[in-house]
Amino acid sequence: CQRRIDWNLFLSYIKKDEYVQLLSEIDALCQSAGCNAYIVGGAVRDYFLRMDSCDMDIVIEGNGMIFAKSLGEKLNYIVKTYEPFLTATMQLPSGQKIDFITSRKEVYLKPAALPIIIPAGLIEDLKRRDFSINSLAIQLNGRDKGRFYDLFGGLQDLKDKKIRILHDDSFLDDPTRIFRAVRYAVRLDFKIEKHTKSLIAKALAEKAVASLSSERLSNSFLSVLSEEKTAICMEELNRLGVLAEIFLQGSFSINELRKMDDDKIIRYNVLFESPGISCDPVLLKLLLFFFPCSLSDWQSIKRVLSFDKKYSHCVLQMIEYREKFMDTLQQSHLSPAEVYQLLRPLYTEVILCLLLACDHLQIERYCMMFLLDSQHIKLHVTGKDLLNLGIKPGEIYGIILKQVLAAKLDHKIVTYEDEIAYVRSLLENKFYQDLSE
Ligand code: ATP
Repeated sequence: CQRRIDWNLFLSYIKKDEYVQLLSEIDALCQSAGCNAYIVGGAVRDYFLRMDSCDMDIVIEGNGMIFAKSLGEKLNYIVKTYEPFLTATMQLPSGQKIDFITSRKEVYLKPAALPIIIPAGLIEDLKRRDFSINSLAIQLNGRDKGRFYDLFGGLQDLKDKKIRILHDDSFLDDPTRIFRAVRYAVRLDFKIEKHTKSLIAKALAEKAVASLSSERLSNSFLSVLSEEKTAICMEELNRLGVLAEIFLQGSFSINELRKMDDDKIIRYNVLFESPGISCDPVLLKLLLFFFPCSLSDWQSIKRVLSFDKKYSHCVLQMIEYREKFMDTLQQSHLSPAEVYQLLRPLYTEVILCLLLACDHLQIERYCMMFLLDSQHIKLHVTGKDLLNLGIKPGEIYGIILKQVLAAKLDHKIVTYEDEIAYVRSLLENKFYQDLSE
């Protein structure tokens, strides 16, 4: 089924000048290189939904890597190629990245493993796609510029708000599509069509998700955490039985994730919008999701999912901290300096996770105080000042500075002069005199 879209309307949707210029250069290069180019997937879907799209995937009927390199050279844009996948990524001056893909057919030799890629025409390339709504294409060059390809009724499914798979073995070939189906259904507020849902159930019954490599499974899981409505995605994955395939009951909590929902998080905007606090929302959601996880649960999860060092370290930190220090943090008499000592070793995301998950007024107060105030307090006094006061350099410097900081956190001292006076007062104490000798 081929129609034409209104090209000028499409250009006005694309908005950004650098995209419009890029499309015109693609058209020109297609003519000299004798190939065709199409915009395929998310950007076309989002165009018909009149939604903002961040991605642009360009399929080249020809060699996508060579095409992208020539275009990059002409426009002086950086291009990175990925030989095994026959793809290239171009970075525009705005930082936006555009993917160039060699039009291909994909052959799955083994379920859940990566497919073999064979260069092929556009039709084959559209057939290998996940859902009808993601298999729409618009031609970008020549006289057929603006021609619209819809082989699988994607436009009708966009109207009917349906997620439809393209063939019956699709989820067995690539079980990551189960996560994708749920992400799109929740993000776009679509329904997974009945037959597609039954194919998900069939793939799960055949343990398809469990047969994914830990890298692919982790990427799928993290992409769910990157969605805005993560908790709803997880509920749907739970209903479908996907989470039970991966995690032990009780090792995760969707309820904790709900605390990141827009209406609940609003109360903490002061934290999230504070320029002094940087938080990776995906990591925070990961921590909330695994908040009830025990150490032994986490060891088993790490056998099926592989996260980068920081993410793993943060989950471990959260579990250990939750077990060791939660009782202490619930006490009402802790001074700011004591709270500082307790929270300073933690990543910001771990502190935010404790704050959100514990739902305890005292813990909330301590975490807010640390994040908004204590962690930013700096000393004026330096090692040079200590030297000027006649203290011999050594271990004692660290001990004194720590004491001065504690006094400052507890608001006993404020100015530089206060700090110097405080150091002097410490030196009157025999403990410090002995140490300084
Ligand atoms: P978004 O980036 O907004 O989530 P998108 O559709 O651009 O949506 P990508 O993951 O960037 O998603 O993929 C681009 C296109 O590649 C998809 O629209 C789809 O056609 C195809 N695609 C991606 N992953 C798969 C997959 N696992 N199986 C089949 N096709 C896929």
